[in-house]
Amino acid sequence: MFAGAASLSFRYTILAGLFAVLIDSDHLIALTHLDALSRMSHSISFGIISVIVLMILFGKRNYLLGAAAIAGLLSHLSFDTFAGDAKFPLFVPFYNHQMSFPHETWIFFELAAVLSIGIVTILQRKPYKDTNSCSSIQL
Ligand SMILES: [Zn+2]
Repeated sequence: MFAGAASLSFRYTILAGLFAVLIDSDHLIALTHLDALSRMSHSISFGIISVIVLMILFGKRNYLLGAAAIAGLLSHLSFDTFAGDAKFPLFVPFYNHQMSFPHETWIFFELAAVLSIGIVTILQRKPYKDTNSCSSIQL
């Protein structure tokens, strides 16, 4: 949710927080005893698929929505790393093994989350239109 605040929008802050929490719902797959790689949602490919699905469903031009999903994923990885549970299949399906990250790397995941949503927020801002400047005065 902290990373979502970089969007300067309550709506996207909540959305990034919700996404960060929902990522752990992949534990439900483990409950079904299917032969699947655990923690599939803790991967970059899951983040990209989420962005594509969300943008198709809710708005093709809403890049902030996609950034909120990526920020939610990175924040979640940051929290898991901070909590000492830093083993993810980050590059699945290209590298089908769990990758371990040292405890200190949580800050890099969180910074990447803040930067991803912060940069998109800046890029999506409409240019400031100064109607009171001298150039707009008609003589
Ligand atoms: Zn997790």
